[in-house]
Amino acid sequence: MLALQGDFREHLAVLTGLGADAHPVRRASELGAADGLVIPGGESTVMDKLSRVFGLAGPLRAAIDAGLPVYGTCAGLILLADRIDGAAPGQQSIGGFDITVQRNAFGTQAESFEADLTIETLGAPPVHAVFIRAPVITAAGPAVEALATLGDGRIVAARQGNLLGTSFHPEMNGETRFHELFLDLVDTARERR
Ligand code: GLN
Repeated sequence: MLALQGDFREHLAVLTGLGADAHPVRRASELGAADGLVIPGGESTVMDKLSRVFGLAGPLRAAIDAGLPVYGTCAGLILLADRIDGAAPGQQSIGGFDITVQRNAFGTQAESFEADLTIETLGAPPVHAVFIRAPVITAAGPAVEALATLGDGRIVAARQGNLLGTSFHPEMNGETRFHELFLDLVDTARERR
């Protein structure tokens, strides 16, 4: 659980509730001990800067390239994206996910909204998704599987190998199925080692 900034406590609570042994990660040594990582929502520019200040950015990218399961929500999804549309000056990403995200894609009128999304991978009932100054995925490479789209076709949940990302915040309203999917990726990756 990347705990540099943002709503990591909510994610820790969901993961612990699912029986996972979840810890906050702030240093490279803590990352090295983890079998998977959740990057929370918050502010991607701040998380980007802190990840570099704390020397986490390089080791995290190396771990992603080596197959570490990572789940990013909202700002966390922005950190995982290879390309950011609407990045703040100097903002970089960790990357690894072959997607373009558009930051703050819903403008000022609809900074926050909720929607029910039917997600085939998860089955019934639909996911009640909470979007807060959320990004969307506007382009995705061939290895990316879109898990959820809005009515207009923009992607708001996706998977590429061991990387999972959502524009919205399942940790905020008792939706645990994405975290369960992430923990399945962690278990499978652990068994392979
Ligand atoms: N708009 C934020 C950013 O660009 C993300 C918001 C969120 O994580 N809820 O980092």
